[in-house]
Amino acid sequence: MNEVSLADQQAAKPLNKSLTAHGPEACASPVKKTIANQPRAREKIRPGAAQYSSKVSLPVEPVPVILTIDAEVAPHTSDWKRDRGRFAIDRDIFGITDRGERGLRYQLEVIEQHGLKAVVFLEALSTSVVGTDLLKELVTLVQLRGHEVALHIHTEWLPYLPRPLVGDRRGRYMHDFSEDDQRRIMDQGLENLSRAGAERVVAFRAGNAGASLETLRAALRSGIRIDSSYFAPFLNRSCRLPSHPEISQAIPLEGVIEIPITWFRDGLGRIRPAQLCACSVGEFEHLLGRAWTDGWRIITLLLHSFELVRRYSPERPQTVVRLHERRLLRLCQLLAANAEKFVSKTFGELDTENILADPQPSCLRSPLGQTIWRYLEQATGRVW
Ligand SMILES: [Zn+2]
Repeated sequence: MNEVSLADQQAAKPLNKSLTAHGPEACASPVKKTIANQPRAREKIRPGAAQYSSKVSLPVEPVPVILTIDAEVAPHTSDWKRDRGRFAIDRDIFGITDRGERGLRYQLEVIEQHGLKAVVFLEALSTSVVGTDLLKELVTLVQLRGHEVALHIHTEWLPYLPRPLVGDRRGRYMHDFSEDDQRRIMDQGLENLSRAGAERVVAFRAGNAGASLETLRAALRSGIRIDSSYFAPFLNRSCRLPSHPEISQAIPLEGVIEIPITWFRDGLGRIRPAQLCACSVGEFEHLLGRAWTDGWRIITLLLHSFELVRRYSPERPQTVVRLHERRLLRLCQLLAANAEKFVSKTFGELDTENILADPQPSCLRSPLGQTIWRYLEQATGRVW
């Protein structure tokens, strides 16, 4: 993981006193202002118990939590040519294992069982290579169940397109391309999603976190109003979005709203994303609790459609990563058990005026004991 200095990080200030940057519309709403100006009740979140709170009595609004799932097939790892992507989608998106499905459909079921929603970033450039049927299947699955489809692009698919989209230009990251090229690529992705039946698409995430400010300008020109490519562990490497100071809450950038994937510094000072395969249950619990008590306005969590699966070649059965399966369940239980503090939302449902944070809060930190526990847990997870 990349180390980025926090030396110039702005000192933490209560977010609930930072309404001034929200423009006249935000201040025109006395209800919002009153609610946002009240301090958070500093009580602990409840771990574990899969019970909904039957009453919502706190005088503050719950923090929106966006559960995002990146669903994708990569051209260089998926053996897609053998059957036009069928094996790849069964393994990497549906997560078919020797113990049943653990991919997108399973994940959405677990999320729904806890009264939560997901935003599914569907990789849409591969459709220009393998055809629209697979994407149609996914868009239908996501939308019929009440979740939101968002645009995800992996430019590694460009060399396989039957008709060149950006000449012979190639790259692993969106920022390898000019703003005009990026717009062409996004427009193609949006067209593919639309042909597959997707309704209004409001959010974009670059593959490999490979976004830059040009990406945000291209997104704006393509009609997208939210970007969620900001991935702090990759700053100054594949992610070329602003790194100084780091961004931890929603912020307007280049005409769109940038909503970072939530991240924290662990007990060794390393940047970790709030991602299923990167966080122990204890760390999720700690992060959510800190975000709540610090008055954060949004939390964005990440998993991939294949994160519950140990992936092998087609000749071998795929197996379940039980550690990650358990983490997803516990995370959903945690959110459901604290429904008065956290509300599951999609990007399309957000009141974008109400989530902006100025100044940015200081980063979340987790104690060393939790870092050591995660190492032990991950070691167990390799054999469990
Ligand atoms: Zn991706």
